[in-house]
Amino acid sequence: MSWVIILANEFGLFSERYSDMKSHRDDSGFVVERENYLVKDFKVVVYVSSEQGIDVDDNKYAIVCDAHGTLCGTDILRDARSFMRNPDRFCEDCQRINEMSKELPIEEI
Ligand SMILES: [Zn+2]
Repeated sequence: MSWVIILANEFGLFSERYSDMKSHRDDSGFVVERENYLVKDFKVVVYVSSEQGIDVDDNKYAIVCDAHGTLCGTDILRDARSFMRNPDRFCEDCQRINEMSKELPIEEI
């Protein structure tokens, strides 16, 4: 391991930059995760909000876009999974990416 990486680790830069590429399944309250189809190497994660310590208006489940740090809540797991598959439904940044990719000609995507 190089000095740069050790230093980056020391200051939390490494984990901040790379944490999103790894699984969140060891996090408390983890339920399920899926690759964010709009943002390469990032994921959308479903947590039991109380166990993860996320406040989403007392909803049982929290859905988190880890690329942009946005979240939403629901009491219904089926809805949580649906948000997880379509992060553009709750994350404005993902929505913007989704709209931009629609505007591009196919060959430029
Ligand atoms: Zn997002």
